[in-house]
Amino acid sequence: MHEKLKGIETTRGQFAREIDAVDSPGGLEQLRVRYLGRKGLIANLFKQIGGLDPEIRGEFGKALNAFKQEATERVERAERELAERETLAGVDPTLPPRPRNQGAYHPLTLVEREVKRIFSKMGFAIVRGPEIEDVWHNFDALNTPHWHPSRDDTDTLYIEGDDNLLLRTETSPVQIRTMQRQKPPIRIVAPGRVFRNDKPDPTHSPMFTQVEGLYVDRGVTFADLKGTVLQFYRHLLGWRISTRFRPHFFPFTEPSAEVDVSCPFCAGSGCRICKQSGWIEVGGSGMVDPNVLEIVDIDPEIYTGWAFGLGIERMAMLLYGVDDIRLFYENDIRFLAQFGGRR
Ligand SMILES: [Zn+2]
Repeated sequence: MHEKLKGIETTRGQFAREIDAVDSPGGLEQLRVRYLGRKGLIANLFKQIGGLDPEIRGEFGKALNAFKQEATERVERAERELAERETLAGVDPTLPPRPRNQGAYHPLTLVEREVKRIFSKMGFAIVRGPEIEDVWHNFDALNTPHWHPSRDDTDTLYIEGDDNLLLRTETSPVQIRTMQRQKPPIRIVAPGRVFRNDKPDPTHSPMFTQVEGLYVDRGVTFADLKGTVLQFYRHLLGWRISTRFRPHFFPFTEPSAEVDVSCPFCAGSGCRICKQSGWIEVGGSGMVDPNVLEIVDIDPEIYTGWAFGLGIERMAMLLYGVDDIRLFYENDIRFLAQFGGRR
């Protein structure tokens, strides 16, 4: 073999040994530059062609081209192999799959959805209304006397610079708005945020979530109210629940009653959650005051109705054993993640 051709063979053998030893992308790149770079070993060999005897020139050129192609392909292959090895590095195929970091519904959303689901099954429509209300819809139309303390700015959050606008203190204005545009029969539930001028503590929050139900038609009685409320709480808390109505006063209803349910945790025998009484207060209710029906142009001589309300936070605290209402608004992922598996 011609001496010059031997030079190609030597470089080729050297290249083969080196590329077999390469074990990192950095090392491969160095090797590529040393052999295939613009000033690399192969480029140097090409420079020799001009000074060769014509009889050897053709063979030399052919051998060198073959080596260059081989080297290029070999570098590309090594590149692929290294990339593949990188993806597999540190992977133990016998490990169990990593749990998916899936989001969870907020506990208040879970309870609200359940409340809406139960009422939808009973034929109630879901209605929403504005969170910024006027005094008429929030107080006057709901038969709230002018002297009533709930109108004070110590209780209610008014919009600055406007005595007529406020953050609604309950979802009842939605009932007024519905009765203004719709004639009986009316069967609605209105869920939404309400606002009070309260300092946050374990049981109070300046913002919370209420759901109110309203049923207006001919011949609606207090017995309908009791039956519906009982069915609702049995769906929500369990079939052994019973209800108790205690006389109370709300401007919007007459007669009015507060609703208690028998404690679902001790079946009424007394425990820490019901403070040993066997009963838990869950909301207000009553027959819609005839004054209110007149205000929205529904004849109280023909129609009667009932309304009742409950707090979503209070229900969620009860259902999930949460003892501080503020936990619902702090967005602490350690708290919220506990509701991941629930629907
Ligand atoms: Zn109890």
